[in-house]
Amino acid sequence: MLIFFGIRSPFIGSALLKENVSCNYCNVENNLRISVFGSYFHVFWIPIMSFGRTIEVTCLHCKKTYNEKEIPNNLKPTVDAILRAKTMKSPKWHSLGCFTILTLVALTLILAFFAFVGNLFRTSHYEKEVDTTKTETIEIYKDEEKVYREKVKAFPEWKKDLREIMFSSLTEPSIVKDPVSYNLKSCLEPKLPFIEEYSLSYITHFNNDKILLLIEAGDYNDYTVNQKNEFYKELDFCVKNVLKGESYKTYVGVYKSTKLLMQKTPNQIIKDSISLESNLLKEFFD
Ligand SMILES: [Zn+2]
Repeated sequence: MLIFFGIRSPFIGSALLKENVSCNYCNVENNLRISVFGSYFHVFWIPIMSFGRTIEVTCLHCKKTYNEKEIPNNLKPTVDAILRAKTMKSPKWHSLGCFTILTLVALTLILAFFAFVGNLFRTSHYEKEVDTTKTETIEIYKDEEKVYREKVKAFPEWKKDLREIMFSSLTEPSIVKDPVSYNLKSCLEPKLPFIEEYSLSYITHFNNDKILLLIEAGDYNDYTVNQKNEFYKELDFCVKNVLKGESYKTYVGVYKSTKLLMQKTPNQIIKDSISLESNLLKEFFD
């Protein structure tokens, strides 16, 4: 049967014991030799793990051999000194298998670690790919748009007109075509340093003795509560200032998209997030 594993004890080195040591058996001096052997476990003659060394002291005169335990006490210091020499150490390759296994284990761990980290990234990437938030948002937006279109169809004529007017507002109203809006812009914007440039659009409409000023506040959602209050306060001041001396019944609408954030009629003010469904500005169209 083929033996494919076991212990091997290869010769490592030998040295003569000097310093006046003698064989306890034949008493001949300076004739002792120490031989050092390695010891390792092998599988298919591949060294796996070192078991250290075995030593043997032989008298070259009487051929008496002392094993490690039999070495006389007076020889031990000399033997120890020889064993400390580099050339008498077990070579590293006696543990080749151990090193290989440890290296493989370490490599496996490192690869597993990188695979884990890589997988984390891949997972988040995958999640990004299948992230339906955007699609859902678009779907919801489409739905809202559809619902809104249906609502618009059902709007009374005056509300359709109001919507049309809202859509025709401009960030730079003409001094010739729309002087009220032009002056309103000139008055309002320098007073509101937090307003982004071109974020406000204006349009002014007349109906006999009534005037409707519409202001689209594009970045309204970014205003703080204080900024919103300041905005309304300055708007009120500027509307009065611009229309000074005119005897119009004044209607004001501040909006973002289709939400009328503020509606002011000669009799009342409603602030914040009243959608176009409100009937407050109806009076203007009467
Ligand atoms: Zn001897």
